[in-house]
Amino acid sequence: MKIAILPGDGIGPEIVDQAVKVLNALDEKFELESAPVGGAGYAAHGHPLPEGTLALAKAADAILFGAVGDFKYDTLERALRPEQAILGLRKNLGLFANLRPAILYPELAGASTLKPEVVSGLDILIIRELTGDIYFGQPRGVRECPDGAFKGQREGFDTMRYAEGEIRRIAHVAFQAAQKRDKRLTSVDKANVLETFQFWRDIVTDVHKEYPDVALDHMYVDNAAMQLVRAPKRFDVLVTGNMFGDILSDQASMLTGSIGMLPSASLDANNKGLYEPSHGSAPDIAGKGVANPLATILSAAMMLRYSLGRAEQAGRIENAVKAVLKQGLRTPDIYEEGTTKVGTSQMGDAVVKALAQ
Ligand code: NAD
Repeated sequence: MKIAILPGDGIGPEIVDQAVKVLNALDEKFELESAPVGGAGYAAHGHPLPEGTLALAKAADAILFGAVGDFKYDTLERALRPEQAILGLRKNLGLFANLRPAILYPELAGASTLKPEVVSGLDILIIRELTGDIYFGQPRGVRECPDGAFKGQREGFDTMRYAEGEIRRIAHVAFQAAQKRDKRLTSVDKANVLETFQFWRDIVTDVHKEYPDVALDHMYVDNAAMQLVRAPKRFDVLVTGNMFGDILSDQASMLTGSIGMLPSASLDANNKGLYEPSHGSAPDIAGKGVANPLATILSAAMMLRYSLGRAEQAGRIENAVKAVLKQGLRTPDIYEEGTTKVGTSQMGDAVVKALAQ
């Protein structure tokens, strides 16, 4: 089994190092090969997704990704900015299904901004379509406004679109994920205003016929945003489009106390995937040794489960993470009085130690 290791920028290398330590501590050995991506890719080869990095990602069985982005590249033309690497990987590898579990470990109930009774025991899964929607729809750009009160002025525009097949395949992923959990799926849309999402609702309803054991409900995105903070435990699995999923999954991450706790998987049609923490490169804390590596370590666990067929090893890592939280070890983002503050590397070492126990 070959794993491509793409650490990226900012805190990426620090947190990926911890996940690599954990992978190397498992009984089974994996072939790990690193390559630069994002700003690091641009610095090394003049492109955020260098050819060699893309070739490695294609050849590997799975990809462990840190994060990309660095303010010093903000003045580059858009096609060369670090963030293009992740979009390029998603497009080139056909990674259309983004799975983001949001689990609140009992030990972190106090780190959530919501009352413990509202969030304790939270265990939801957000599934976001990744390769369509307004993020990729054409045409887009800046043009002369053709009509209305602002006719003749410049206007920015994007195109929201979803093909039937795109909706069907993400709906299948979502129904199948729900079958493995509490068998409840909420499809989030904006069918009351947007044609694209009325179509989305119709197709999801049609796919539901193949999964009669799953209870399906539909919810408008504004209501879903409200319910996620009012009563998040009412959900089991949520499925939605690219833009709504982008926003709702970050919102859900805060229910769990810190974005530093939230892993993610982006899968293709054959369960090959790219695994990364849900957060970005956090340039504000990069190099300080304080970043929380647990989202990346938990992403490695998801990789073992979804792409490498090693559910038992995944469970071992997840239990080791629970154990270090139980021991009271906390990086600054999840620190509370009465717990022990540790740095990035110490947290990684503690997970490795807990694995052996
Ligand atoms: P961010 O997620 O990097 O940081 C937001 C806040 O969360 C910061 O205060 C940061 O310190 C904190 N944080 C993030 N991860 C943490 C961790 N593991 N431990 C402790 N604290 C953590 O988002 P941002 O500041 O909006 O973006 C920074 C850069 O990351 C930008 O260049 C952006 O484009 C990029 N980005 C990349 C990805 C990706 O690689 N997939 C995703 C989102 C943002």
